[in-house]
Amino acid sequence: MKILKNYNLDKISIATLGSHSALNILRGAKDEGFRTVCICRKNERLIYDSFGVADVIIEIEDFPDLLRDNIQHKLIEMNAILIPHGSFNAYLDNLDKIKVPLFGNKELMLWEVDREKQSSWLKMAGLRVPKTYRNPEEVDKIAIVKCYGAKGGRGYFLITGKDDFYRKIEIMKKLGFIEFGEKYQLQEYIVGTNIYFSFFNSLIFNRVELIAIDRRYESNVDGIGRIPADVQLKTDLIPTYTVTGNIPLVLREKFLEKAIRAAVRVVEVSKKIASPGLIGPFCLECSFDENGEMYVFEISARIVAGTNVGIPVSPYSYILFGENMYMGRRIAREIKMGIETGKLEELLC
Ligand code: AMP
Ligand code: AMP
Repeated sequence: MKILKNYNLDKISIATLGSHSALNILRGAKDEGFRTVCICRKNERLIYDSFGVADVIIEIEDFPDLLRDNIQHKLIEMNAILIPHGSFNAYLDNLDKIKVPLFGNKELMLWEVDREKQSSWLKMAGLRVPKTYRNPEEVDKIAIVKCYGAKGGRGYFLITGKDDFYRKIEIMKKLGFIEFGEKYQLQEYIVGTNIYFSFFNSLIFNRVELIAIDRRYESNVDGIGRIPADVQLKTDLIPTYTVTGNIPLVLREKFLEKAIRAAVRVVEVSKKIASPGLIGPFCLECSFDENGEMYVFEISARIVAGTNVGIPVSPYSYILFGENMYMGRRIAREIKMGIETGKLEELLC
C-alpha cells in the first residue's frame, strides 16, 4: 500500500506474466485504456510480439524471476498493477515476495493450492463436494487420483479399488507423471458433465457476476473415445486429464440458480476465512450428474484460462453488460472504476 501511495493514478499500467490468460488480461486492459506490460520468457515472446497487446515486454529467463528486485523495481516505476493467473500458482513458490500491488487476494490463492483447505472452504459454503478417501483401501467405487499443486489435470488417473491403485501408481511413476513421495488426493469420481463457471466478485458494484462458462478439452481422456474398444483393451492406456484447451458452454437455464447461489455462498465464506475475501475473478469447477445435482470439485481464486473462450463476449457477459465484456476487460474495468471512485486500495493486496 505504501508503494501504491507513490503511484501516479493517471498512468497506471496493467502487467502480467506471459502465459495462461495473459492475452485475455492484456487485451482487456487495452480496451479499458491502460498501458500494458507483459513479463515473459524468451521462448514465448513470439506470442506476445505477434498479437501486439503488450506495450512493454520484459524478458525473463524463467517465471520466478518476476520476484527479483530489479524486475519488481521496473514494474513499480511503470505504476504497474499485477494481475495474477494460474501460472502464478504453478510456478512461483512464494507470492508474499511480490511487492508490486496485485489485483486479488493472495491469501485465498494459497487456499486454492492446498486441496484440504479448498475442500473445507467449499464445505463451509454448504456445497456438495465429492467424497475424499483417506487411503486406497477405502475406495469402494470409481475414484480419481490427483496430485497436489495446480497441475491442470496432468497425471490424474482413475482407479476402481486398492489393487488397481497400487498397479497404476507404479505405471504413473514410471511414465514420470508422479514423483516419488509426492502428495496426492483420492476423490470420488463424479460421473456427469463437467461445467466450469467463471464469476467475478465486484466490490465496486457489490455483486457477484457470472461472466462465462466453459468446459475443458483434456488429453488423453477426450482422445480415448476415438480409439475402438478392441484396440483400447489391448493396450495399457490410462486416461489422463492434461488440459489442452477449453470449449464455451451454456447451461440449461434452470441450473443457473444452483450455480449463482453457490457463488454467492463461496464469496460470503471467503470474507470469513481471508478478509476481505474474494476480489474479482474466481471459478467453480463442477460436474452435474444425471439428476441435475451439482458437485463442486475445485475452486480457483483468480482468473482461469477457461475465460479465454469468452473474448470478446460470452452469452452471460452480454446479457449482463449489453456490450463486449470478458474477464480480462472486466478486471480492467473494475480497476478503472476503483481509480475513479477512490476505492483502488480496496481491490489490491
Ligand atoms: P501454463 O503457464 O500454461 O503452464 O499454465 C499454468 C497453470 O494453469 C498450469 O497448472 C496449467 O495446467 C493451468 N492451465 C493453463 N491453461 C489452462 C487452460 N486452458 N485450462 C485450464 N487450466 C489451464
Ligand atoms: P482439477 O485439476 O481438479 O480441475 O481436475 C482436472 C480434471 O479432472 C477435470 O477437468 C475433470 O475432467 C477431472 N476431475 C477432477 N475431479 C473430478 C471428480 N471428482 N469427478 C470427475 N472428474 C473429475
